Amino acid sequence: MVKVEVKYTKLFINNEWVDAVSKKTFPTINPHDETVIAEVAEGDKADVDIAVAAAKKAFHRYSPWRILDASGRGLLMLKLADLIESQAKYLAELETLDCGKPVKTAEEEFYYSATVLRYYAGKADKILGNTIPADGEVMSMTIKEPVGVCAQIIPWNYPIPMMSWKIAPALAAGCTIIVKPAEQTPLTALAVAALIKEAGFPPGVVNIIPGYGPTAGAALTHHPDVDKVAFTGSTEVGKIILGAASAVNLKRVTLELGGKSPLVVFNDADVEKAAQIAHGAAFANGGQCCCAGTRTYVQSGIYDQFVAKAAEIAAKRSVGNPFDDVEQGPQIDQDMYSKVLGYIEAGKAGGAKCVVGGDKLGDKGYYIKPTVFADVKDDMKIAKEEIFGPVQSILKFETFEEIVDRANDTNYGLGAGVITNDITLAMSFAKYVRAGSVWINIYDHVTSQTPFGGFKDSGIGRELGEDGINQYLETKTITLALPKVPQ
Ligand code: NAD
Repeated sequence: MVKVEVKYTKLFINNEWVDAVSKKTFPTINPHDETVIAEVAEGDKADVDIAVAAAKKAFHRYSPWRILDASGRGLLMLKLADLIESQAKYLAELETLDCGKPVKTAEEEFYYSATVLRYYAGKADKILGNTIPADGEVMSMTIKEPVGVCAQIIPWNYPIPMMSWKIAPALAAGCTIIVKPAEQTPLTALAVAALIKEAGFPPGVVNIIPGYGPTAGAALTHHPDVDKVAFTGSTEVGKIILGAASAVNLKRVTLELGGKSPLVVFNDADVEKAAQIAHGAAFANGGQCCCAGTRTYVQSGIYDQFVAKAAEIAAKRSVGNPFDDVEQGPQIDQDMYSKVLGYIEAGKAGGAKCVVGGDKLGDKGYYIKPTVFADVKDDMKIAKEEIFGPVQSILKFETFEEIVDRANDTNYGLGAGVITNDITLAMSFAKYVRAGSVWINIYDHVTSQTPFGGFKDSGIGRELGEDGINQYLETKTITLALPKVPQ
């Protein structure tokens, strides 16, 4: 294992490092070998109260943050993006230690996160309102204002990309923030906090409170001085957050939740290319991806060939120590490891044909073999529920009408994909599938410029792109009396 220095383990409030009020800590675990990497300060309600007060003060109308030019906010964000890039190698090693993703992928994620910061940095001084020809002897206009103090609750699968999707539009809009990283992966958020301070953001603008969901997370979602909650994670917790957000005040809410995304391959597709795309869709990040294309629907004419190719590619997938040159590391923790293995057993017991994998890998660390099931039926557990692990389910279909209905027969609606050379077929599928992102002959291509989010139980609101910043803005209408004819 590579030795990585852990520099920051305390709460980050008001640009200072502090212990939890309770002095409690929690261990963060290395998923490669199940050892404790570090003890991290465990935030709870008392700490959330302090952090929210800091964010509220930083949001005061005359605070250094609020009187900064909008372009000045953008410049600070550009500085932060540069700092993240300059530290990308160290940050990637820290992420790999804590999260288990291959170190090369982790490094790409930091460069990606810098692009998100730069995209929104450019937007900071381009937030425009309207002038409106309102009825009456008036002149009306709208101005866009920051929504206020924002709680941002982050998952463990893409710790810093998910943090960048949230802090970047919030900062561009002029909000102040309390981030709660996932308890499995608190280390890189704290390392980025040090760069936020170094970039020159005023105290209280970004605060980071590691801790558990039902304690620190719930304290944020119930806090009367928090104006907005943004959350990425499970649909189950998303529903709890939506309830909590309306319990004390009426917080604005964006939710980016789970999925069971279909990827549909038509007969005219190049089987080799399609199998590669489908493999990436199912196995990227060890399958720990909210929009993973886990229901691979293949038209009957190429079904057998496709299954053979999918099995061949999955069998070659390199899995191992994420500090080595591998495609897949361990799953995040014991819970997810057991949960995914449970789904694999359910797949076998339910009658699906396991054509490759189907078991854990080794005896130490949370490693699971890339697993492909063929002959999966729509009513099987593995075809209906989000597995969040390296498991691909392949299902057969015959016609376009049939596949649109089957693709939509889910409570989720995050991603969908289609592989065909027939543009009419592709665009018809894109039109009728109920999902927030549809990819044609590509999968999971998500950029700063393109909105991302879910239909149905996959979420509320959108992150990224123009839509992403609108979730951090309030519209204020100002109307002044202006006689049509001078009095
Ligand atoms: P989770 O939803 O429990 O946790 C995500 C974040 O929410 C963490 O920061 C957690 O501390 C926080 N949280 C948990 N309970 C909370 C509460 N009551 N109030 C406020 N915050 C709370 O996800 P998990 O347990 O890490 O994973 C479980 C499942 O979630 C996975 O199997 C997967 O299906 C899904 N998941 C989805 C995504 C995604 O990107 N959509 C990411 C991670 C997990």
